[in-house]
Amino acid sequence: MSHPWRGSVAVRVESLFAAALIALSLTIPALAQAPPAPSARFVVVLDAAHGGNDAGGTLASQDGSSQPEKAFTLALNVRLRSLLAARGIYVVTTRESDATIDSDTRSATANHANARACLSLHASESGSGIHLFVSSLPPTEPARLNPWKTAQAAWITRSLALAGMVNSALTHAGMTVTLGRTALPVIDSMTCPAVAVEVAPEITSGQAQPTDVSDAGYQARVADALAAAIVQWRSESRTEAAQP
Ligand SMILES: [Zn+2]
Repeated sequence: MSHPWRGSVAVRVESLFAAALIALSLTIPALAQAPPAPSARFVVVLDAAHGGNDAGGTLASQDGSSQPEKAFTLALNVRLRSLLAARGIYVVTTRESDATIDSDTRSATANHANARACLSLHASESGSGIHLFVSSLPPTEPARLNPWKTAQAAWITRSLALAGMVNSALTHAGMTVTLGRTALPVIDSMTCPAVAVEVAPEITSGQAQPTDVSDAGYQARVADALAAAIVQWRSESRTEAAQP
């Protein structure tokens, strides 16, 4: 599996982390500038995790078929983008194709967009329901300049609030949700409320087989609930500052 928060991939994550450090030292500014002021436009960033050389996990279905996680996240990204656009929400995506995009570029896209919310989309064939993750960085006071690798620290409170709203919307739609904290390079460098959403098979009581993440109806319900959460987030954001 390919998720940094899974213990079984500790070795691979370590080597990825080393590679990320090298990349950081070559290309990435040491500081992330906080957005100067809340944007008048409500921008949401959707991050379809993985892509290109990074296939993510393999999502096997009951019928014997399977798809790479990178394909699932891109499909959910497209579905969710159109739902949000239909509600007048401006969406920026970190990728629109099967491209290899490193985590710093994804974070930079979100930070440049002055996003009011970012959802990083993942999927897993293990576990059940929807797993939500907020950065495990300890919260800090917002500063004009934040260290790139821990820029999210100043946004933890808002990210937890966003996760709570997503949790409510998914639970309201009848889904099982688990909340967690984790270290994710993409999220940790974002200067916006940010939540990683991992879709796992749906296990319903009284149903013999779990519903695979490849199930179109399940995907549609997940996307609808995520869109509802973002719409609610927008309406609440109108009454308070977008800054943490
Ligand atoms: Zn993933």
